[in-house]
Amino acid sequence: MRGSHVRRGTNLPRMGDFNQSVILDAIRRSSEGLSRVELVELIGLSPQAVSNITRRLLAEELIVEAGKAGSGPGKPRTILRINPSGRFAIGVHLDPAVMTVLLMDLMGVVLQRRVRETPVETEPARIIEIIADEVRALIEESSVDPARIEGIGVAPPGPIDQPAGAVVDPPLLRGWSRVPLRDALAEATDMPVFVEKDVTAAAVAEIWAGGHESTRSFVFVYIGTGIGSGIVVDGEVLRGTSGNAGEIGHIVTDSNGPECSCGMRGCIAVTCDPQSLVREAEALGVLNGERHRNGDVADGLLRLCAIAEEGNELANEILDRAAVRTARAVSVVTNLLDVDRVVFGGPFWEPLAKRYLEVMPSSLPSYRAARSIHPLELVSTRISDDVAAVGAACLLLEQTLGPRAERLMLAQ
Ligand SMILES: [Zn+2]
Repeated sequence: MRGSHVRRGTNLPRMGDFNQSVILDAIRRSSEGLSRVELVELIGLSPQAVSNITRRLLAEELIVEAGKAGSGPGKPRTILRINPSGRFAIGVHLDPAVMTVLLMDLMGVVLQRRVRETPVETEPARIIEIIADEVRALIEESSVDPARIEGIGVAPPGPIDQPAGAVVDPPLLRGWSRVPLRDALAEATDMPVFVEKDVTAAAVAEIWAGGHESTRSFVFVYIGTGIGSGIVVDGEVLRGTSGNAGEIGHIVTDSNGPECSCGMRGCIAVTCDPQSLVREAEALGVLNGERHRNGDVADGLLRLCAIAEEGNELANEILDRAAVRTARAVSVVTNLLDVDRVVFGGPFWEPLAKRYLEVMPSSLPSYRAARSIHPLELVSTRISDDVAAVGAACLLLEQTLGPRAERLMLAQ
């Protein structure tokens, strides 16, 4: 171990970064903007420090002066606001079916997006080239100054090797065996690239752009082709050693359920994922081949939910069973982490939302350890289907705006 003086020495400039991001964060969170005096009161830095930092932020065009406020005695105060076009970020969601590329401003507003099918049976290297082409086209269409783009956040399905920036054999992306996505995309675009598992990116989106009243601890349950979760505890995203925290697919909720590839029975991966619901509906005769296109899961699920909505009892039983199982899995996670909100989203959530949100709250309490201490809120995300791409772009905002403890701890 190196001497502690090395660590202290490198911490000094880091401390400045930290104060700067605390100020940026406070301004960003205030819908009306804040004056320097209010910043001093709110953050507890000296007026001199606030003045120095805000001068620097104005020079970097990260904030702007937006009029005066205040009446009564004393000078009116100059209000400081985030400059939305001070920086931009690009978010990419690499879904096995669809790739979404979007451009976001510093306030988290999506300015431009491009969506296209992810080509199947295509080499990862070629797909990375296509992502780079999409990014270039997006920048061109948007006509923002490329120098103001902080970089690219890219969200593939897990598992990933986050320290290596690699995608490691996701079940539905064929041929992606330890593909160095981060470095390859950085080379193809000449921009910094961050890789985050899609479900974790969704949780990041919820922190930055969710619009729900702030809670510091929540779980994002992502219902896509598979079911995963992103975890936020005390305001920090929980990533784990390799960026794969939040794998909930093998929580067993029905020990008599179907066999899972993991060797157990009744995991939510084989009882609650859209594929299983469609298969169950086919087995019970609720769906047949003609009622949904070529066994297409998305179409099948939409049909199943529509039939349930029309009052078909078998269809409703299938959804209710899955909702109760999902509630059990959710309670395992919420008991473990003591969060007070579960946010649901992902491409297959929308058709399930109504029924699930009716069924789950009543089946949850008996499983909950902290039920007498605080409520548990179940909500739908307010972010669109782009939630993973939005979250990937938010990673860059986090780099610019987030007052993260790591900035103090990492002496590099
Ligand atoms: Zn399993």
